[in-house]
Amino acid sequence: MIEGRIPDLVVAHALAVDATRARPAHIVVHRGRIAAVLDATEPVPAATRVIEAAGRVVIPGGVDGHCHVAQITGRYRTLDDYALTSRAALWGGTTTIMDFGIPRDGTETPLAAARNKLELARQARCDVALHACVIAWDPTVPDQLAELADLGIRSVKVYTTNRGTTMADDDTVLKVMREMVRLDGLTYVHAEHDAMIVDCTERHAAAGEAGIRHLHRTRPELAEETSVREVLAMAEYVGAAVYFVHQSTPGAVDLVGAARAAGLDVHSETCPHYLALDERVYSAEFPEWFACCPPMRSPETVAALRERFAARAIDTIASDHSCYDLTQKRERRDDIRQMPHGLPGVETRMPVTFTMLSDALGAPSDPAVLQRFVEVFAAAPARINGLPGKGAIAVGYDADLVVFDPDRTRAVVASDLHMGTDFSPFDGQELRGWPQIVIARGRVVLDNNGFHDPGPTGQFVRRRGYRAADNDAGSSELVSTFRRESGNPLVWVP
Ligand SMILES: [Zn+2]
Repeated sequence: MIEGRIPDLVVAHALAVDATRARPAHIVVHRGRIAAVLDATEPVPAATRVIEAAGRVVIPGGVDGHCHVAQITGRYRTLDDYALTSRAALWGGTTTIMDFGIPRDGTETPLAAARNKLELARQARCDVALHACVIAWDPTVPDQLAELADLGIRSVKVYTTNRGTTMADDDTVLKVMREMVRLDGLTYVHAEHDAMIVDCTERHAAAGEAGIRHLHRTRPELAEETSVREVLAMAEYVGAAVYFVHQSTPGAVDLVGAARAAGLDVHSETCPHYLALDERVYSAEFPEWFACCPPMRSPETVAALRERFAARAIDTIASDHSCYDLTQKRERRDDIRQMPHGLPGVETRMPVTFTMLSDALGAPSDPAVLQRFVEVFAAAPARINGLPGKGAIAVGYDADLVVFDPDRTRAVVASDLHMGTDFSPFDGQELRGWPQIVIARGRVVLDNNGFHDPGPTGQFVRRRGYRAADNDAGSSELVSTFRRESGNPLVWVP
């Protein structure tokens, strides 16, 4: 066979699972993309490498829409960089991460913050897309947002809490929404009512309850739901598409669902820890493992959130990955107002999510369970965020593939993970559904022989507009590059 005339890779006899279908197939990969998806009853085409996947499930690589990499907030900096986080993502079956360009203080502009992340992301091993962030409005912001959209950064995050650091006031939130409508983009919102949280936290502090053991009492569910309500009203007024990050209560999810039913373009994200953990962790031995905002909720709330998740009321699951270590977490465990909040999770998103879903929905290898998993883990984050070529096993899409074992159960051991930290909030939990082989843009980065660091090969993914009609990432020229001529073999047509 002449060099270059056969495809680079075939994943043979796989059960290829998308969000909408599961079919036995040979997945043909060439030059980093999916070149053909052949019926598994056909002969396996010749290829430079063939991975035999008989009896195995293959899903699209995960898309984590909410990660913080090398994040500086106040006096704390997360301990990872793009090389570390992207390797950990790949270990966990995620092939695209989305980070945020968050201005570190009043002197850094949204554009500068995003450009900084673009530069850092050159070290990434997996693909990267970005969200911008606006903290304070000024007359230069519209031009900055237009420039960011030209760069392929088409969402802006705003925080309704974190007074003094990342919080944006109502004027800013509303103006950002308006600009994002103009730019066909998406507004990401961290929604917690700041005045309630400040009041509640100060009252607890005055009563001597400022330590990490009291975190869940200082940020009531009502504060989250009140802010969601207010933001939804602004979204309706402006006509803006809004994505709520890390929803932690059924009430917040239901508000978004009702708004969507009324015709608004609104989306709900939750995180693995809000499904798998509850507020009892704050009375456990190491409460600082669970310092994040919103905090873990009551067992009743968690049970109701799991029901919403199983019932498709939540669009996506993201890690909200933030890599602090225990030294940072313990330094001010006496005062939640001073300690860094956020949990490492880019590597554990797959098994936590799959365990939660399969516990709720039934047999792990049931195609309906697998499809639902692909939807929240890869397809919906790719679709909602306008990531071309991601989230499906289809011709022309990027060859981001995971051979996934829905039945494999093992306990999380924090010291075996690969994130830039020394703990995991899931340490010791028995979780089901782990990656066996991970392929990123056609490169096998994880297989039975271990991890093969591809070097800084991750690409920056430019996003399309939120409403852009071109929903298909496929490349017609690629479709025509493989042709089956009178039977076999598959012929590469340059
Ligand atoms: Zn976050």
